[in-house]
Amino acid sequence: MPSRNRIYIHRRRAFEQQGGRCYYCGVRMWLTTPDEISSDPRRRPALEKLRCTAEHLVAQCEGGGHTAQNIVAACAHCNQTRHKLRRPPEPLAYRKHVGRRVARHAWHQRWVYDLGLTAA
Ligand SMILES: [Zn+2]
Repeated sequence: MPSRNRIYIHRRRAFEQQGGRCYYCGVRMWLTTPDEISSDPRRRPALEKLRCTAEHLVAQCEGGGHTAQNIVAACAHCNQTRHKLRRPPEPLAYRKHVGRRVARHAWHQRWVYDLGLTAA
């Protein structure tokens, strides 16, 4: 099976297992269309950050595979921010860091908190 298809399957599985919430920040993500969160066209660009992505806990370049054990669902914002860092932190350390920022409402844009999208 092409790896792209496997990633798609794992992403959906992880999304469902995690109740549609990001592994790192707990925000409600969307899987197929941003309308799952909000159909407000003004939020369209920002909603791209809440897209569900497949996050490899062990990076592919470090030997991590496209396996159920290695793939979690993370919002595009958390995924991209982690990999933009020069030395991406370990998943659990990053999760702690993100959790502290979310608690201070200092991770996502304000409307994300206002809509209660980070509340468990
Ligand atoms: Zn996130």
